[in-house]
Amino acid sequence: MRLLEWQGREILAQAGIAVPEGGLARSPEEARRIAVKLGRPVVLKAQVPVGGRGKAGGIRLAQDGEEAERLAREMLGSSVKGLPVDSLLVVEALHPTAEHYLGLTIDRSRRMPIFLYSPQGGVEIEEVARQDPHLVSRAHVPPGEGPSSFRLRRLLSLAPPPLRPALMDVAKKLWQVFLTYEAHLVEINPAAEVDGKILALDAKIIIDDDHTAGPQFSGLSEAVTDPLEAEAKAAGMSYVRLDGEIGILGNGAGLVMATLDLVAQAGGRPANFLDIGGGARAERVKKGVEIILKDGRARVIFVNVFGGITRGDEVARGLVEALAGRDIPVVIRLVGTNEEEGRRILTEAGFVPVRTMEEGAARAVALAKGG
Ligand code: GDP
Ligand code: MN
Repeated sequence: MRLLEWQGREILAQAGIAVPEGGLARSPEEARRIAVKLGRPVVLKAQVPVGGRGKAGGIRLAQDGEEAERLAREMLGSSVKGLPVDSLLVVEALHPTAEHYLGLTIDRSRRMPIFLYSPQGGVEIEEVARQDPHLVSRAHVPPGEGPSSFRLRRLLSLAPPPLRPALMDVAKKLWQVFLTYEAHLVEINPAAEVDGKILALDAKIIIDDDHTAGPQFSGLSEAVTDPLEAEAKAAGMSYVRLDGEIGILGNGAGLVMATLDLVAQAGGRPANFLDIGGGARAERVKKGVEIILKDGRARVIFVNVFGGITRGDEVARGLVEALAGRDIPVVIRLVGTNEEEGRRILTEAGFVPVRTMEEGAARAVALAKGG
């Protein structure tokens, strides 16, 4: 369960981490009231469960209450990266001297929590790790040991010395949040440096869906989910939004995961994936393609179906119906039960199925890159 920024921010504040002053607005009038009460310029932040909101128009600066109300009216009801905006966090606009990154997640290969820090925050940490790997430091937290000071000192050796005590304090509080909320991610990006202090300008918390029962989780259930995810679920499928440009449709979690890996190996990035599950009939396949098309970010669709209880002819019929009149390129690999009939239906409709997953992945990536 991914929390919205305002929920994460309340949790961080409760743990004693400083956050900018402000509050949540569900209407333009409320945004105005909060801005007037603060009495200085504010930042309006769309409460949607994705990062990179700034570039997508989800973060706006307002000088006063009137402007806050006007911008809030534009933002509420609009969408950011395909997600509906129904509330805004309205906070004082600060002028950080620097933006750091501080996060805590689970290193699955080492099977233990890991802290990440970078003096270059404000952008995605994966980006920093790719471009300037020497600007990211890590510290594992071995089970039973907890975040010992010597490990945190090493983690923060990249930080400006005067700021280290403040960051150390935030890191320790972040650890408490991580444990209390059974999180697999708690991330402050940016952790802003303002007058020598550290403030959480953003808050991202992902709680393990299999967390134990406890009072700390009550009231958190309202975290919004992606509307497409909800639509897929209602139709008996699972849809997951990713960040790339290739839409993936497959049957069964294992095959879908393998498809994602192949696309990544071929140098592409999936925009999403949709698992149509076992035994899907044409209607469900059609719905699946429609969900990928609605997402709007896929430039190519890669269909990878291995027929067992799922019949190739049903899949082919669903694809043909959903794709009639669309001009998005589609790469199809279809084998297994009723494969010949499926291929015949596809070929008649003008699609040329590929033979192997590898061939399909390579073609999808080439098409996505404009080849
Ligand atoms: P995200 O892009 O969705 O992760 O949203 P963030 O909350 O991280 O904000 C993105 C960027 O907006 C930050 O890195 C800051 O540069 C800027 N920003 C956010 N809040 C403030 C603020 O209060 N003051 C200023 N000056 N910039 C802000
Ligand atoms: Mn952020």
